[in-house]
Amino acid sequence: MENYQILIVEDEDVTRFNLRNLFEAEGYKVFEAVDGESMASILSQQAINLVIMDINLPGKNGLLLGRELASNKNLGLIFLTGRDSDIDKILGLEIGADDYLTKPFNPRELTIRARNILSRIGQTNAEDETEQAILTFNKWTLNGNSREMTSPTGNVIAIPRGEYRALRLLMKNTGQIVSRQTLIKEMTGRDLRSNDRTVDVTIRRLRKHFESDTETPELINTIHGEGYRFVGKVD
Ligand code: CA
Repeated sequence: MENYQILIVEDEDVTRFNLRNLFEAEGYKVFEAVDGESMASILSQQAINLVIMDINLPGKNGLLLGRELASNKNLGLIFLTGRDSDIDKILGLEIGADDYLTKPFNPRELTIRARNILSRIGQTNAEDETEQAILTFNKWTLNGNSREMTSPTGNVIAIPRGEYRALRLLMKNTGQIVSRQTLIKEMTGRDLRSNDRTVDVTIRRLRKHFESDTETPELINTIHGEGYRFVGKVD
């Protein structure tokens, strides 16, 4: 599996052990951490490609730790959670998690997701580099190199990979409806699942950035049952 290295962050011994066996059987090199401290120590010593992290950890929980990882665009992140109520938090926070699964999960499903994300990371970084790096709309600037947006008043906002890719796709199709399936594929490389809120939460977060500037009208239309449409002025 191209020597990919996976770090499992999970304090429950049995789950961690099972995850290690699962991914080793797939040919990955697997590292284990039981909390944020041991995670940081391994990340500083090993070139990890993907972190699979339980949310309920002793000390700093997975959501806080995930936020700390978000700036590393070469690192994939999958959250594991025992509670549906965590999903909004995963999607709503400025984490940029690539995916999540609720426990109990299907091991095969997890390995498929992991493989998709790993191939997606290399691919999207290469694509992002060949894309026009700076896009501007309505006095906002979107910088593909740093994945930052700059507001008309000069505020710089770092945005996660999913938000960046969604906005860029919408801007490239200004005035046209982009389906939720097309958006999720662009953001994560996977297909839309039933009750999948990933796209909608991402659009909500993007709108929040724009609306924080009261001079700027709403730039993204919701087309019910279809998708979203960007109606800003792209320079
Ligand atoms: Ca746990």
